Amino acid sequence: MTNLSGKTALVTGASRGIGRASALALAAAGAQVLVHYGSSEKEADTVVADIRSAGGKAEKVGADLQKPEGPHDLARQVRAIVGDRLDILVANAGISMAASIEDTTLEDFDRLFAVNVRAPYFLVQQLLPVLCKDSTIIFTSSLVARASAGALFAYAATKGAVDTMVKHFAAALGPRGIRVNAVAPGVVETDMSNFTKTEAGRNAALGMQALKRIAQPEDIAPVVAFLASSDARWITGDTVHVDGGSKL
Ligand code: NAD
Repeated sequence: MTNLSGKTALVTGASRGIGRASALALAAAGAQVLVHYGSSEKEADTVVADIRSAGGKAEKVGADLQKPEGPHDLARQVRAIVGDRLDILVANAGISMAASIEDTTLEDFDRLFAVNVRAPYFLVQQLLPVLCKDSTIIFTSSLVARASAGALFAYAATKGAVDTMVKHFAAALGPRGIRVNAVAPGVVETDMSNFTKTEAGRNAALGMQALKRIAQPEDIAPVVAFLASSDARWITGDTVHVDGGSKL
C-alpha cells in the first residue's frame, strides 16, 4: 500500500471530481493535504471534513487560478502553511470547452490557456523554493493531447502544452531530485465530462475504450498517489495514460 505519511501535498481543484478523489487518496496514504478550491468553498470544506473524520490532516486554500496573480496568491498561502517544504504538488485544476475551430473565440482560447497552462507553470515557479529533493509534481494532462476526440481543439492544445512542460520541467528539476510527471485520463464521469450523463455520450466514450465502462475519479486517484510515492522514484518526465485503453 502507498505510504505518504509525513508528506505534505497540495492538490489544486480539489473540491470535486478527479482533484477531490486525488486529495482523498493522498490523505488515505497518510499525507497532509492542502485542498485548493476556486469558488466552491463549501465543497472544499466537505473534502477537508471527510479527510479529518477519517483521521487525516487537511486544510483548505482558495485562489482563482484564472487570474494572473492566482498562482502567486495560492503559493503564498501554501508556503505560510507548509513552511520550508512541500512534498507533492498535484496541478489538477482545469477547464474544458467544446467548440469547432471556427467558433473558438480569442477569449475562450485565453481563458483555457490561463487556467490549464499559465496557472500550473507559475504555480511551479512560485513553489520552487519549497520543492526539495524527493518532492514531486504531478500535472493533469488528457487523452486529447495525443488523440483527436470531439471538438476540443483549444483544450487539447492546452494539454499538449502540459505534456511539454512535464518533459522540460523534469529535465530541469531532475538534478535537484524533483520528479515531474502527468496523468492523462480519458473520459471520466465528472462535472467537466457531463456528456457521460446521456446515453449517446456514454456510447461515444465506450466506443473508443478497450475497457467497457465509464471511468470514475477514483480510477485516476490511485495512479496520482502512486506517482507521488517513492514506489515511482525512477519515473520522471512521463505522462501516464490512465484511460482504460482509449484510442489504441
Ligand atoms: P471538474 O470540473 O469536476 O473539476 C475541475 C476543478 O478545477 C474544480 O475543482 C474547479 O473548481 C477547478 N477550477 C476550474 N477553474 C478554476 C479556476 N479558475 N480557479 C481555481 N480552480 C479552478 O473536472 P475534472 O474532470 O475533475 O477535471 C480535473 C482535471 O482533469 C482537469 O485538468 C481536466 O482537464 C482533467 N481531465 C478531465 C477529464 C474528464 O473526462 N473529466 C479527462 C481528461 C483530463
